[in-house]
Amino acid sequence: MSEAPKPNAAAAAPAKRPAGRGRNTELPEHLKAYKGVWVFVEHDRGHVHSVSWELVGEARKLADTLGSTVSVVVLGGMDEALEKFAAEAFTYGADKAYIVHDPVLKGYRNEPFTKGLTDLVNKYQPEILLLGATSMGRDLAGSVATTLLTGLTADCTELRIDPVSKALAATRPTFGGSLYCTIMTLAYRPQMATVRPRVMLMPPADASRTGEIVQDTLGMVETEIVTKLLDFIADANSNKINLPYADVIVSGGKGLKNPENFKLVFELARVLGGEVGATRPCVQAGWVEADRQVGQTGKTVRPKLYIAAGISGAVQHRVGCEGADVIVAINTDANAPIFDFAHYGIVGNAMQVLPALTQAFAAHLALRSRQVA
Ligand SMILES: Cc1cc2nc3c(=O)[nH]c(=O)nc-3n(C[C@H](O)[C@H](O)[C@H](O)COP(=O)(O)OP(=O)(O)OC[C@H]3O[C@@H](n4cnc5c(N)ncnc54)[C@H](O)[C@@H]3O)c2cc1C
Repeated sequence: MSEAPKPNAAAAAPAKRPAGRGRNTELPEHLKAYKGVWVFVEHDRGHVHSVSWELVGEARKLADTLGSTVSVVVLGGMDEALEKFAAEAFTYGADKAYIVHDPVLKGYRNEPFTKGLTDLVNKYQPEILLLGATSMGRDLAGSVATTLLTGLTADCTELRIDPVSKALAATRPTFGGSLYCTIMTLAYRPQMATVRPRVMLMPPADASRTGEIVQDTLGMVETEIVTKLLDFIADANSNKINLPYADVIVSGGKGLKNPENFKLVFELARVLGGEVGATRPCVQAGWVEADRQVGQTGKTVRPKLYIAAGISGAVQHRVGCEGADVIVAINTDANAPIFDFAHYGIVGNAMQVLPALTQAFAAHLALRSRQVA
């Protein structure tokens, strides 16, 4: 009896492919037509969130590198000033604005906004789509990316064009902030990224710049939307703490020892007309509200003056405050990492230095106001 031929092991082995699940690196032919850099303009009750303009500034740099254009998407209700927002976007560097007015787009809801943005993307095919990493932007970016089956890199700290692949190289912290990784979406379009407020610089406005407005429609009716917007109730605490846009911030860390001593931080901030920030351990200990946390998992700030009292300067805190124009650190340990990036350092006990600074600034500012009067 003859034996059945053994299968040829080499022939039976599956074709070699790179490790990883579904790792595609080739852009399919039909996605090569996607061109242009888009920014979603976030607005709420008549005000555009500044992160949208910060992103238009970044989009301009990316588009100039690619030799392409910048467009913004502005979605809203029938009576909202979307054309005014578009005109403002042009002054910051946008070339074109896609506008959709529809009753169901008055006030943010995920379903109509996801449909509005994905429909526009499918129709006009941008290469890159940027959104602010705000509550609204995070909610919308995730659902748009999953609907479009494309890649999204969240909370980026740097955006550039990879010189070889011409793909968006989106850099973000990883491994608890101890490393940065750069992510590229090579085989899908659009390439999506979110960026937190104040991570990118505000671009200068050029009042002479204008652009093209394209009006589009949504094609969705209220009965198709599960979420209903019944009322808007302002959070009594919102807008009270506005760390990302404060010019002066006095921050405290665990070196202050207890919440009682944290009052010294509030005192100095009050005299300077600034905001109060904190490190994560202080927030976790319940010394201050979570909205005051500066750092990788808190807020990114860019004040003119940042005073850090009793803060070690861990990398997760540093990434949130190193964009400040001037950093003054107060720490008992002359070797604390904060002194590696602070512009001015005071080696001393914060419980003595903070009241001394408060007193000196109060006296100086009182003298100045008397001179002005
Ligand atoms: C995934 C992840 C995300 C994180 N995100 C954040 C974040 O967003 N923001 C953040 O802040 N941290 C974050 N952290 C925590 C971060 O790693 C540090 O643990 C934290 O920033 C340290 O806080 P601190 O400087 O208040 O405390 P400590 O590291 O305990 O430092 C206290 C400092 O006070 C000094 N000191 C002591 N006594 C005095 C005194 N009398 N006067 C003056 N100085 C004194 C000490 O010399 C020391 O340098 C994160 C960590 C991880 C793992």
